[in-house]
Amino acid sequence: MVEKQLNEGSNALPHTAIDAEVCKGCRRCIAACPQQVLRLRPTMNHCGIQPAEYIGRDCTGCGICFYNCPEPYAIRVESPDRPTRNS
Ligand code: SF4
Ligand code: SF4
Repeated sequence: MVEKQLNEGSNALPHTAIDAEVCKGCRRCIAACPQQVLRLRPTMNHCGIQPAEYIGRDCTGCGICFYNCPEPYAIRVESPDRPTRNS
């Protein structure tokens, strides 16, 4: 069975999700993240690659990792809706 990890943090906070089977382990996102909240997983995916993963806290939702990733659909950044002034 192919393991597909979307290593997400709390949905109530900004977080990053990486598809372990699409990620190529190039580390660009890890190097680019100003919060240093990304790392390589200790285990390999089905291609024998160590994919990146989110450590699960302190993501600010800045999106820098997304814009540095060369692999379509490998990484996504989600931020909860920001409250409006009148809410
Ligand atoms: S969105 Fe920003 S803080 Fe969050 S993992 Fe990506 S680069 Fe790091
Ligand atoms: S930049 Fe993209 S392909 Fe490279 S390690 Fe990060 S998520 Fe994986």
